[in-house]
Amino acid sequence: MAYDYDLFVIGAGSGGVRASRLAAMSGAKVAVAEEDRSGGTCVIRGCIPKKYMVYASEFGRSLKHMEGYGWKVENASYDHNLFMDKMHREIDRLSGIYARNVKNAGAELIDDRAEFVDAHTLKLVRSGRTVTAGKILIATGGWPVMPKEIEGIDHAITSAEMFHLEQLPKHILIVGGGYIAVEFAGIMSGLGSSVCLVYRGDTVLRGFDEDVRTHVHEELKRKGVKVITNASPVKIEKSGAQFTTRLSNKESVTADQVLFAVGREPHTKGLGLDKAGVKLNDKGAVVVDEYSRTNIPHIFAVGDVTDRMNLTPVAIREGQAFAQTEFMDLPTAFDHADVPHAVFTQPPVGVVGLSEAEARKAHGKIDIYKTRFRPMKDMLTGDEERVLMKIVVRAEDNRVVGVHIVGPDAPEIIQAVAIAVKMGASKADFDRTCALHPSIAEELVTLREKFSPPELKPVV
Ligand SMILES: Cc1cc2nc3c(=O)[nH]c(=O)nc-3n(C[C@H](O)[C@H](O)[C@H](O)COP(=O)(O)OP(=O)(O)OC[C@H]3O[C@@H](n4cnc5c(N)ncnc54)[C@H](O)[C@@H]3O)c2cc1C
Repeated sequence: MAYDYDLFVIGAGSGGVRASRLAAMSGAKVAVAEEDRSGGTCVIRGCIPKKYMVYASEFGRSLKHMEGYGWKVENASYDHNLFMDKMHREIDRLSGIYARNVKNAGAELIDDRAEFVDAHTLKLVRSGRTVTAGKILIATGGWPVMPKEIEGIDHAITSAEMFHLEQLPKHILIVGGGYIAVEFAGIMSGLGSSVCLVYRGDTVLRGFDEDVRTHVHEELKRKGVKVITNASPVKIEKSGAQFTTRLSNKESVTADQVLFAVGREPHTKGLGLDKAGVKLNDKGAVVVDEYSRTNIPHIFAVGDVTDRMNLTPVAIREGQAFAQTEFMDLPTAFDHADVPHAVFTQPPVGVVGLSEAEARKAHGKIDIYKTRFRPMKDMLTGDEERVLMKIVVRAEDNRVVGVHIVGPDAPEIIQAVAIAVKMGASKADFDRTCALHPSIAEELVTLREKFSPPELKPVV
């Protein structure tokens, strides 16, 4: 049977754009439907605007630090509207580049929502047109979870609206303890809002190494963020321009803005996947194998909609591997091991490989090298911020299986360290690498002392 397209991609975000461009460049007839704006979460309401807000928020502290170095800055102030305007102009520019790149590769970009009619047919919702395709790639990403059971939840906003705040809130309540919640806590605090973070666990950043979690948690508090743990919102009430959030621990917090950052869910609702027979897991994510194949042989899924590792470069690599396998005769399965990732807090976190707990579980005996120190720059600024560096080594063969950094430029450092970890570097390789002095990163190659955990006393 002849189809309208060889490949139809749903979603022009990180994964969908990479896959469609490569498939089109290999000669396939490709269309991509995008219901919102090209670029997806990363460009429009994720990594890019978030990082710009991080940059904006860091200048306040830098101004204070300047005094330690003899600089005097008078009458410095932050103009929120000016910054937002400049940021959105940059986002528009990037979104335009994404759209142009799709078209320049020879794919058709359709400004519409696509839904399945059957396993080979899609309905374009706004135009009412139906199209058929030999292969279909689901790259619809994810969306913030909003717990509907909380009374007054409609008064709260998600991370998506944080990029459109018309004015800076004086007080903001942030609910959540994952990377998006703690990043916004740092951003808003740096911009001058008073921030309260409410988290249902006892330490933020669940899933990260325990030392990293504690370090970030303590730094958040030191920066003036009020952190309430082991509590969750039960009700949000509006009074005038303010919102009072009642918590499960009987406390209540009044703020001008309430942000819920309690997780994200795969964007599969209303997509008609049942009509195509595509299997989802209990979280609503599309179930795929290592080649991003669903249970239906000609339907594939990449990126956040598969809930494997929800990061932009991962969505891009999965999209690329799919196009190479299906259209370039180069079977490729993306390797999800040792993907470096960051949390853009103050100071930021950079991680590659396994946490101490994961490494113990996977490898049994491991060695830990770690240090905490005050960076040289802060000796003159008076800032009490601390750096954490931790190397996790598999004892059996001395291989470095995890590196964790919390400190200035940690994401930049970890990207380079990730090459060594991916290559299988041993602790001895780190040791024979000469230090670059004076730098924060030199600690990575000068750590010699194994960290011995305090002796556990036998229970009598
Ligand atoms: C606040 C925030 C900060 C983040 N920071 C980082 C970071 O620092 N680093 C990092 O690596 N990752 C970060 N991420 C995660 C990153 O943005 C995602 O992992 C990445 O964008 C996933 O790409 P994707 O292609 O799977 O989906 P997306 O980029 O979300 O693209 C999916 C696209 O599909 C479209 N779509 C959905 N349904 C349909 C339909 N039926 N028809 C047509 N179009 C449809 C959507 O409009 C969207 O444009 C962040 C995310 C958030 C929310």
